[in-house]
Amino acid sequence: HLMDPAISIQFDHVSFRYDDDQHQVLRNVSFQIPANKTVGLLGKTGSGKSTLARLLFRMCDPQEGAIRINGTDSREYALDSFRASIGIVSQSIELFAGSLRDNITMYKDHITDEQIVQIIDRLGLCDWFRSMADGLDTRIERDGSNLSGGEAQLIAFTRVFLCNPRILILDEATSRIDPITERRIEKAIAVLMKNRTCIIIAHRLSTVRNTDYTLVLQEGSVLEFDETGCL
Ligand code: ATP
Ligand code: MG
Repeated sequence: HLMDPAISIQFDHVSFRYDDDQHQVLRNVSFQIPANKTVGLLGKTGSGKSTLARLLFRMCDPQEGAIRINGTDSREYALDSFRASIGIVSQSIELFAGSLRDNITMYKDHITDEQIVQIIDRLGLCDWFRSMADGLDTRIERDGSNLSGGEAQLIAFTRVFLCNPRILILDEATSRIDPITERRIEKAIAVLMKNRTCIIIAHRLSTVRNTDYTLVLQEGSVLEFDETGCL
């Protein structure tokens, strides 16, 4: 179990390729994130950022090296409880036809409306929530087609915050976001990042300004890893 309140993450000489005949997507990647610190992960399209997140979530295994969580190889933890302690907001957010409530709770019916509204409030999303036509009963269309990409992200943040994961991974969408939603997103991220170990994958420097460390990947290798502000 990953019951420790504070979790450190270490990538120890990790190399990975998706297929034997494919190029190495991650090459000898090493870095260490102390417990409850945040890392901004930058790099060009295809540099391996989402792959790194997938490895951490154990959707794939590295061919070489190890990922250590509080010093223990992540493969030694029971998969279900391990994954339950990691919250991911990825580039594709799954939304379905139904109420805003169901899209937030994913049908976990022990979650009360009061809890949801409290989370929305703590994420600083009250204004956005008030703009929804029917509150938690607001209908979301299939794939969230009646929402902007930014709004879909706000729903995903609320979902993740409800789970209170010890590790948080945000894989920022490249989609264009209006300045108001962007400000909301940045504020919500700042709340989400408190008291967890976080990896924030970003295409814009503004999002990672407030992280403790910056990691830059280039063609699957670590180009930089340093305290943010030192680079
Ligand atoms: P972006 O900024 O566009 O999100 P990224 O840094 O997240 O890019 P990855 O998605 O990690 O990049 O991809 C890194 C490399 O791995 C790319 O060359 C990509 O083609 C390859 N790749 C990604 N997913 C798969 C997969 N499921 N099977 C095979 N190759 C993959
Ligand atoms: Mg990606």
